[in-house]
Parts: sequence; C-alpha cells; structure tokens
Amino acid sequence: MTDKENLRRHLLHLDNRNYKAYKDIQGSYDFSEFTLIIDYIQGDPFASPSKFRVKVPPNIARFPRELFSSCSREIALCDYLTRQFDKAAGSISSKRGSGKSGLICVTRCGQEVLARTSAFIISSARSDIEDLGGVELRFTVGLPAGGRSILGRQAAAMLCEDIPEIVGKSLQYANMNAAECRHHVETVEDADWLRQQLAERGLVAFVADGSILPRRTGADDRPLLKNAVPFQSPPSLKVEFDCPNRGLIAGMGIPSGITLIVGGGYHGKSTLLRAIELGVYNRIPEDGREFVVTNPAAVKIRAEDGRSVAGVDISPFINNLPQGRDTAQFSTENASGSTSQAANIIEALEVGLGKKEEGRRKKEASEYFVKNQQLFSNSEKDSVPVLLIDEDTAATNFMIRDRRMQELIAKEKEPITPFIDKVKQLYDDLRVSTILVMGGSGDYFDVAYTVIAMDNFQAYDVTEQAKEIAKKYAIDRNAEGGKHFGNISQRVPIPDSLDPSRGRRDVRVKVRDVDEMAFGTEEIDLAAVEQIADRGQLRSIAAAMVYAKQQYMDGKRTLSEITDLVMADINDRGMDILSPFPEGDFAMFRRFELAAAINRLRSLIVDS
Ligand code: ADP
Ligand code: MG
Repeated sequence: MTDKENLRRHLLHLDNRNYKAYKDIQGSYDFSEFTLIIDYIQGDPFASPSKFRVKVPPNIARFPRELFSSCSREIALCDYLTRQFDKAAGSISSKRGSGKSGLICVTRCGQEVLARTSAFIISSARSDIEDLGGVELRFTVGLPAGGRSILGRQAAAMLCEDIPEIVGKSLQYANMNAAECRHHVETVEDADWLRQQLAERGLVAFVADGSILPRRTGADDRPLLKNAVPFQSPPSLKVEFDCPNRGLIAGMGIPSGITLIVGGGYHGKSTLLRAIELGVYNRIPEDGREFVVTNPAAVKIRAEDGRSVAGVDISPFINNLPQGRDTAQFSTENASGSTSQAANIIEALEVGLGKKEEGRRKKEASEYFVKNQQLFSNSEKDSVPVLLIDEDTAATNFMIRDRRMQELIAKEKEPITPFIDKVKQLYDDLRVSTILVMGGSGDYFDVAYTVIAMDNFQAYDVTEQAKEIAKKYAIDRNAEGGKHFGNISQRVPIPDSLDPSRGRRDVRVKVRDVDEMAFGTEEIDLAAVEQIADRGQLRSIAAAMVYAKQQYMDGKRTLSEITDLVMADINDRGMDILSPFPEGDFAMFRRFELAAAINRLRSLIVDS
C-alpha cells in the first residue's frame, strides 16, 4: 500500500478521537508526485496551524533552468511559486470545522519580491534531468476539528485530495502560465540589473517613464487604478539603460549629491519619495513601480519622538542641551523630534559606513539546493548610504533655522545644528547623498545640486531657476555647521541588555503586526521604520536579533560588526539558520532594519 493510502486510512481511523491524537501523523509521506512532510502538529484547533512542506522533485516539477539560472531569477521564481500556491490554496481549501480547521495557507506576499523561506528550488543531481528544477514549498494547515475532536474524513480529503490538487496546479511547470512566469522572473532580473548600474552612472535612484507611483489607498499598496498620471522624466534628467530582458528603458536618474523635491501641497512629492524609499526592493510586474530602483543602502530618515536612544553620538547635530546632558553618548527613554531624527541619521551611518567584515566564511556545500541563495543580489553592503527625508515626517527645527531666527536666538542658545548646515558635509566628507522633499523652505536652494519640482504629478527640472532665485534673494544665513560633519562613533551592545527570554522560556519573540514585535518582555515599536515592507521581514528580524545575541554579541564587537556577521551568515547559509525548525514565514531584510530594531529596544545598553 502506498504512503498516501496509509495516511488516508490513518486519518479515517483517527476520526472522532481527541485532537491531540493528530500528533501521530507527524512524519514524511511519499505521494509519488511529491513528498509530503509534516513537521509540526498544532496542539488544538485554535492554536497556530500545523507546519507542512511538500517537495516536488525536478522530474515532476520540471522548471526549466533558465527560470532559476541567476540569483535574481531564482528568488523571483520562488516568489512566483509562493503566489501561485497561495492562489490555488485560496480557491481549493475551505473552512472545515472549528477554529482554523480546513485552512491551507502560505506566507502572505505583498507588492515586494523578496527572498523568502516559503519556497526553495531543488536542483537535480541526475545528469539526464539536470536542466530541470524541483521545488520545496512550506505552508500551514489547520487540521480539521469538530469542537475538539478530530474530523478524520475531512482531514483525509484535505491531505490526500486538496493538497495534491494545489501542488499539481501551482508547482508543476506543465500546468502553469509559462509566459507569466517568465515575465515575473525577467522583470525582477531587470530591476536588479538596473539597481546595479546606478552607482556606475553616478545615480542614487532611477524612476522609469510610465511608472505608476500612487497607491490605491493608504491601506492598499496596489497601484491606483483611476486617473493615475504616469511618471515622465524631465528631459534634462533623462537617462537610458539597455536591460538584459526588456531592452531599452528610459526614465529619470537622480544624481548623487543633494536633491531637493519641491512643489505645491498635494502635487505628488511624497508619493515620489515613497516609491524611491521602497525602490531598495524589487516589485512584482504590474505594480507600477517595478522599475523604480534605488541605491540599496538608501535609508528613510524621519522624526520619531518618544523612541528610546542608547548612547548615540548625536553631537554632529546636537550640542549644549539644557542641564548639561551629554550628546556624544546621548541616551533617552523619550527622544524629542529633533534628537530622534539626529539619532536615526547617526544610527544609519553607523551600520552603513561601519568597518565591513572582510573574511567571508567558507560556504557549506549543499547538493540539494541549487546554490546557497545569495539573498541580496544587490548587496547593500558595498553601497554608501543615501538619506531620504520628507518634510511631512521631519522635525522642522531639525531641518531649518532661518536668518531671522538666527538673529533672535543666538547660536549658543540653540542646541541644534540644522540639517541644512550638515547636508553638504555629509556628501563632501562621507559621500552620503540626500534626497529631500521640501516644499516649505527655499533656504535649501543654496545647498541643492538638483531641484525637481512636482506640478500636477509631473516632474520638472527647476535647478537653474532655483539657483537664480537663490542668487537674487540671498538670505545671508550664517552657516553653523563647522568645517566637518564630525565623528561617526561605533557602539558596542552589552549582551545582557538584549534578553529574549520570558518566564520559563529562553526565547520568546513574537511579531504582532508589520510594526510591532515582542522581544522577551519588551515591546519594540517599529512603526517609524518605514522600509520594513512586510511582516515576514519583521519575523526574520526578530529571529536575527536572537541569533545575533547568541552568536556574536560578546561585549567587544560593535553593532555594525555584529550586523555584518549576521548578514554574511544568512547570505552564505540561508535564512533557515535563524530558526530551529523549517520556517516558511521569513522574508529577507536589510542590515539597516535589523539595526533599527535593536536600536529601538528600550533595554539596550551600549559601550562606546
Ligand atoms: P504631496 O506630498 O506633494 O503633498 P502626495 O504625494 O501626498 O502629495 O500626493 C497627494 C495625493 O495625490 C495622494 O492621494 C496621491 O495618491 C495622489 N497622487 C500622487 N501622485 C499621483 C499621480 N501620479 N497620479 C495620480 N494621483 C497621484
Ligand atoms: Mg507630502
């Protein structure tokens, strides 16, 4: 008798028994077309659902090698398969009984294409099928119950009929839409390629002509359907690329240096910046922003009053606080708008410019996976950070201090050196570029290299006019920023100050939403970390914090070294190192967001 028939009988046999008896079915089953692996069984119908995997071998899945022949393509194919599985499961699985009974779910994907642990390509060792790929897919199943007893018949139908149907529909190349799949893979590869070209062309971002930037609603990240004005580059900023798949593409190149985005309220400034912010990730075709690409080390900076700060040297921006508070090692439980924004900048530079780990450890050979997935094909590691700031979320007193205010409030009485007096030094001393949305102050005309105006959702290059206006109405501000940007200090986290334990459990981390994490007994608020695009990223960041503490925090290494080591391990060996069991819900993140989560831990203590 086959494994499948055995499993069916077993489930029928369990009918009506106590829910706990489901534990018996844990294990691996040969379904001939694929292997079904049951890794974990839920304790009751209302608990988090059971963890399943299927492995479809290369000779059955039959993905042609060109769909996973590069790192970008492999990530894109896995993303595509995850979405296909989700679609098929959504149409086939149905509620069968109480709690989560009957649900078959795979990790939720938004508009971003990220490396995830939901799917992996399996390459073949056999030479006759070596040009084909198989797939491992991880998902969850709500094992069906009536009240608290097993619904054996329903379970048998789910596991022995529904799952094979979903797998057949979504994970076998012969049954898939080949053109759509290829388009998905090629789009992602082109976007990765474009992002790689930026530095060479002296650009920090590229926005393709025809892009649809606005979103459907504030809560719906899909493209606006009606009356969206497609993006068009101003002629003077137009650049062209010859992409590997789609060929010529034109659009606006934002040069490195200091770029100002101006324009009236409601004319599309923030929408443009938001697209640029998320241009560090790839998007699915038809997102509208799939060819908006940004320097991979671009970091959104905003004010975030109320956050905690641990020993950050904010002295490049803030000095002489009342009551003689130290700003070279500034700590607070409750930062102000300006001090939080200063800390956000310095923290981004700390991990973005920190000494990079040179020696890459040997890769572990794994015959099973095609290659150790290089999860970020455009590594943010080698890029110099770019700061992205929107006036909507910035502290005004951090951004500007005009002539009249300088006259009224003496420099000695104002702790803040405004960003306008530091932004040039950031570029001159550190090569850190800034893109700034600023509709409310023309003072920045003096320091901007490029000025883009948004007018009725159209972009114009107004650099020349802005420079002339700056000449005509000289404002005689006193530059208050000194000669150099100042030191970027490196902090050493004290291991004991990161404690993931709670009660009797050594590790208890939980992700509540896309912006909140429970780490041990602490809550971390990540609502202001706007480049966390996906709940899966937050899950893997939580796990990476535990990993960082266990593997690398020794009271000597700096935060930047630690994040480097963690990212290198993940790059070499995959996100599975972050979890003791096969986890299907992780999505790849950047060092900046990992550091951001650590930096917002209220218990954090550092040595500097
Ligand atoms: P600003 O920052 O200049 O005040 P926003 O970027 O917030 O303006 O945009 C204002 C509104 O216009 C938003 O509702 C946004 O979705 C919409 N919008 C932005 N760009 C476009 C566009 N290209 N086409 C249509 N609507 C747009
Ligand atoms: Mg705005």
